[in-house]
Amino acid sequence: MNKNSSNIMALAPNTSNKRETICIFGTGDFGRALGHKMIQSGYPVVFGSRSTQKSSLIPKDAEVLSHAEAAQKAAIIIIAIQRQHYNFLTSLAEILHGKVLVDVSNNLKINQYPESNAEYLAQLVPGAKVVKAFNTVSAWALQSGTLDASRQVFVCGDDMEAKQRVMDIVRALGLTPLDQGSLLAAQEIENYPLQLFPMWKFPILLSLCLTAFFFFYCLIRDVIYSYVYDNKDFSFFIAISIPNRICPILALILLALVYLPGVLAAIIQLYRGTKYRRFPDWLDKWMLCRKQLGLVALAFASLHVLYTLVIPIRFFVRWRMNSQIISQALNNKTEPLNNTYAWLSDSYLALGILGFFLFVLLGITSLPSVSNNVNWREFRFVQSKLGYLTLILCTAHTLVYGGNRFLSPSSYRWYLPNAYMVSLIVPCIVLVVKFVLIFPCLDKPLTRIRQGWERNPQYSEQSNYIINKSAV
Ligand code: NAP
Repeated sequence: MNKNSSNIMALAPNTSNKRETICIFGTGDFGRALGHKMIQSGYPVVFGSRSTQKSSLIPKDAEVLSHAEAAQKAAIIIIAIQRQHYNFLTSLAEILHGKVLVDVSNNLKINQYPESNAEYLAQLVPGAKVVKAFNTVSAWALQSGTLDASRQVFVCGDDMEAKQRVMDIVRALGLTPLDQGSLLAAQEIENYPLQLFPMWKFPILLSLCLTAFFFFYCLIRDVIYSYVYDNKDFSFFIAISIPNRICPILALILLALVYLPGVLAAIIQLYRGTKYRRFPDWLDKWMLCRKQLGLVALAFASLHVLYTLVIPIRFFVRWRMNSQIISQALNNKTEPLNNTYAWLSDSYLALGILGFFLFVLLGITSLPSVSNNVNWREFRFVQSKLGYLTLILCTAHTLVYGGNRFLSPSSYRWYLPNAYMVSLIVPCIVLVVKFVLIFPCLDKPLTRIRQGWERNPQYSEQSNYIINKSAV
C-alpha cells in the first residue's frame, strides 16, 4: 500500500455502519475526488452525468447514471459543476424537490456575482434545501489524502437538519465541519479560497518599503559617502553590514507599529469620551494585522541574531582587529581597559539577548495551538505587558548601542544621522505616549470608558442609531 492510500485509510472512520447513498452531479476532477473519498468512507456513490458511459477515471464502485436517474437514488446531491452550467437544474426541479443540494462551487474572482453561487442555486431550485460546503478543500487534497492545507470545511445553510446531515458526512470523511450559519454566509465562504494572505499584505508591503528606504539610506551613508570623501570602497558592506543594520531597525520599528494603533485608539477614545463609536477604517485594519506585523518583526530580529553571530568570522572584522593589534605592537603602546565602554557593550548585548528572548516568547504565544490554551487575561498579559517590556528592552538595546555617539557631529554624514537613530523615533513616541497614558488622570477615565462609561451620552444615541440602522 502506498503512502497516500495509507493516509486515506487513516482518515476514514469506521465503515461498518451502512451509510446512505450520495449522489454527485458532475464527473469532473472534484466530483471524482469527492466520490472516491466517500466510497472510502463507506458511502454508496452514484454519479449524475451528461454521459452515462463509465470512464476508467471514475471510482469502480460508483454507478454513473443520467442526472434525473441518479437524483432519484439519493436524498443528498452534491453539485460538482461550475456555476455557469447550473441552468439545466431547473428542468429537474420536480425531482430535486425536498432534496439536500450541496453547493461546492468556487469562483474565479472575489465577489464575482451579486449573489453567492449557493444562493443562486437556491433561487434556481426553490424546493430544494441548499447547503454550502466542501469548497475550501481541493480535489487534489481529497484524492491524495494528504489534506495538508486545512481539514476545515465551512458549512452554511438555511435548513438546520440539512446542514446537520452534510456536517455528519464531512465528519465521516475525516474532516472538520465549521458551522458558519445561514446561506447568507455563502458569499464569504466562496471568497475564502480566493484570498491570498489578506492579513499579511500590509505588513509585508510596509516592510518591503522600509527595507528599500533603509537600504538606500545606509548605502548613501556607509558606502557612497566613504567613497566620495575618503576614496574607500566599502561596497562589500552590502552583503552583511547593511543587512545587519536594516534587520534590527525593521524589527524595532515594526514592533513599535504593533503597539502604536493601541495607543492611538486610547487617545481617540479619550478624546471622544466613549468606546461606542467606530474607529476609522485604517485604524481598524491596522489593529487587525498586528499579529502579522509582530511576526514579521520577529523574523527581522531573528535575521539580526544570525547576522550578528557571523561577525567574528568576517574577513573585514578580523583584518581590522589584526591591524589594531599590530599598530599597538608597532607603537609599543597598549590601550587600557575602558570600563565605561565595557559596561556599555555588555549592557547593550544583555538588553539585546533579553529583548530577543521575550520577542520569541511573544511569537510563540501568538501560535493558535498556544493561544488556544490560555485564557483571555493571560493572552493579554503576554501580548500587552510582556510586549511593552520587549519594546522597552529592544529600544534600550538600540539606545545603549548608540552610547554617547548621538550628539557627536562625526556620526552625521551629509547631515544624515545614523540609521539606528532614525529607527528610534517611532518606538520612543509609542513608549512616551504609553507612559503618559499610565498617569491616573488619563488611565482612570480610559478604564471607565472601556468599561462602557460615556462622557457625553449623545454619542451612545448616535451609535445606537447607527447600530439600529445597520441591523435594519
Ligand atoms: P471540472 O473538472 O471542469 O468538472 C465539472 C463537471 O461539470 C464536468 O466534468 C461535467 O461533468 C459537468 N459539466 C460541465 N459542463 C456541464 C454542462 N453544461 N451541464 C451539466 N454539467 C456540466 O470542474 P471541477 O474541478 O470538478 O469543479 C467542479 C466544481 O467544484 C466547481 O464548481 C468548482 O468550483 C468546485 N471545486 C473544485 C475544486 C477543485 O479542486 N477542482 C475544489 C473546490 C471546489 P459530466 O461530464 O459528468 O456531466
